[in-house]
Amino acid sequence: MLIRGAAGVAAVLALPRSAWATGGIIPGDDDSTQPGATPPPISTRPLPGNAIRVLLQRGRPSVTLTAAGGFAVFDGTENTTPIFRAGPGQNQTLDVSALAHGSGGVIVEAAGDAPLRVDGRPYRGRLLLFPDGAGLMVVNQLPIDLYVLGVLGREISPKWPAAVLQAHAIISRSYALGRRKDAAHAFDVYATTADQVYGGVNAESAPGNDAVYQTRGQLLWYGNGLASAFFSSCCGGHTESAGALWGKDIPYLGGVSDPYCVGSPHYRWRSYVAEDMLRTRLGTEVASLGEIRTLAPLDLDSSGRAKQIVVQGQDGQRDIEAKMFRDRLGTSVVRSTLIHRMQITASPDQLQPDPAFDDPSPAPVPTPPQRGPLVMIEGAGWGHGVGLCQWGARGFALRGGSAAQILALYFPGTTIVAP
Ligand SMILES: [Zn+2]
Repeated sequence: MLIRGAAGVAAVLALPRSAWATGGIIPGDDDSTQPGATPPPISTRPLPGNAIRVLLQRGRPSVTLTAAGGFAVFDGTENTTPIFRAGPGQNQTLDVSALAHGSGGVIVEAAGDAPLRVDGRPYRGRLLLFPDGAGLMVVNQLPIDLYVLGVLGREISPKWPAAVLQAHAIISRSYALGRRKDAAHAFDVYATTADQVYGGVNAESAPGNDAVYQTRGQLLWYGNGLASAFFSSCCGGHTESAGALWGKDIPYLGGVSDPYCVGSPHYRWRSYVAEDMLRTRLGTEVASLGEIRTLAPLDLDSSGRAKQIVVQGQDGQRDIEAKMFRDRLGTSVVRSTLIHRMQITASPDQLQPDPAFDDPSPAPVPTPPQRGPLVMIEGAGWGHGVGLCQWGARGFALRGGSAAQILALYFPGTTIVAP
């Protein structure tokens, strides 16, 4: 399967691109004013500094790679002679046997400007393939700013105000750099909500690309170091403190009042859970309580979020950690731990939603189950609530807030450091 030789491909790949010499920070003032400017894909070796490694797939028996300009496979020792190459547009399926030449895995690089496609999906930068059990681990390595291009379109809508996209570009860049690991780790970040959702070229948009250009290289700093740039969808009116959620106080993540996410569809929510589902999900936590009579948020922190949920049953009472309660029932059912009220009834017609909790948000009202017994949960916001509130940032930007003002609101005391 392997084709040897092809030193010419290495020469093409090694062509210097002065634009990338600054280590992943996109230079060039001219580009910043071009709406929809799309940075060129990179195919240089070695990659400039400030690269990030993103886990795309693991445990795969094989992957199919292609690139419009062809691609080459190198062993992992920075040897510039490819051990294999594929022609332009040629589909090539690689399995673990392709790794036999590279003790530390292999590197795959596009030969031209077109991106590499992994099972049809295009990615900038290069790929690192490692053995992963009996299969392959596929990691996308690319300069941080090109990574952020593929994050913005997955984390927020490109139709949102430019100031939000810019603020998010800064925190997404900062967050990822803060997650970088040493060479003993095969990758730095997941391409999922475990870190930031990353979709490669398919996630890019002209407004998002503009935002990355306009903030190129900018990072959120506190004191002499990178700030922990957390974010979540909607804080429900007050962001959470890192100390309350994770037990670690961070000066700029103490939680702030947020009047700007009122228009979010997640600002207020109601969810319904069948009682037998609740029992199944909570398992042994409630097994000994008999018939459940009430549920209530307990031990509220400074932002109003519950640390515990108290479950009162016919035969006893149990306090359940609120985070576990949310995880067990599902984070899209219990969207946050900023819980207003819970009610358990024998039938849906006995539910008494709190009209004072309603808001003018455009969220569709979920339909309760047709039969009881069931639990109604009323809450505010979506996500852990620490750091930037995406919907609040949108609301603030629609009122004229700039990217810098957005970051000053959610990360008080931090500064934006430009390259
Ligand atoms: Zn908010």
